[in-house]
Amino acid sequence: MTAPARKRKLLKQIATTEKSFGVDAWPRTKWSELERGLDAPVKPDNRSWDELEKQAKACTQCRLAKTRTEVVFGSGSRTAQLMFVGEAPGADEDEQGLPFVGRAGQLLTKIIEAMGIKREDVYIANCLKCRPPENRPPQPDEINACNSFLLRQVALIKPKVICALGKHAAQTLLRTETPIGELRGNFFDYHGVKLMPTYHPAYLLRNPAEKATVWKDCQLIMKELGLPLPKK
Ligand code: SF4
Repeated sequence: MTAPARKRKLLKQIATTEKSFGVDAWPRTKWSELERGLDAPVKPDNRSWDELEKQAKACTQCRLAKTRTEVVFGSGSRTAQLMFVGEAPGADEDEQGLPFVGRAGQLLTKIIEAMGIKREDVYIANCLKCRPPENRPPQPDEINACNSFLLRQVALIKPKVICALGKHAAQTLLRTETPIGELRGNFFDYHGVKLMPTYHPAYLLRNPAEKATVWKDCQLIMKELGLPLPKK
C-alpha cells in the first residue's frame, strides 16, 4: 500500500473510532504524530467504568480483535493513588484476561510490595487492551484506536502518579522517541498526572542488575506519594 493510501486508511479508522465513542472534535494532530501512534489532546469523554469496560470487552476497533483470546482491560483499585501502565498484554495475560500475571507480573507484584503497597491497592493496565501476535510492538493505528480506553481509565482513577513500565509504554504515553534509559528517573506530565518511566519487569528478568535502578525510580514515586522510605 502506498504512503498516501496508508494515511487515508488510518485517518478513516481513527475517525470511525472517535465517532463510535461519541467524539465529534477532529484531532488537529500532525500526521507525523499520528503515524508514530500519538493521539490528539483529551476529548470530552463521560463514559462510566461499566460502559468503558463493556466497550473494551466488545471492541473490534483494530486488527488485534481478531487474534486476541481475552481483552485485558485492567485490574486493581479504581481509587488508586498509583497506576502502572505497560505496553500490551502478553501470552499469559491474553489467556487470563488480566494484566501482568506472568513471570514479569510476579516481579511487578514484588516491586509493589517492596514499596509498602498491596497489589490490589494500585491499578494496573496497558496502553493496548489486546495482545499483539507474537508480542510484536504495537502499531501506530492500534495505539490510536485503543488510546481512549486508557485516557478514560486515568481520568476516572485520578491517580497521583503513573509509572510507565518499559520503553514502549513510556514513549507512547509521553509522545517521544527518547530512549527509556534517558527518560527513567524523571517525572513527566501526563494529562495533569505525574508520570515516572522505568524499566519493564520483563527487562529486569533478563537484566537483574537493573533492579537497583528501578528501585531508585520506585523510591522517587514513594516520596511523591508520601510513603515511608526504607532506612539506609
Ligand atoms: S487493542 Fe484496543 S482498539 Fe484494538 S481491538 Fe483491542 S480494545 Fe479495541
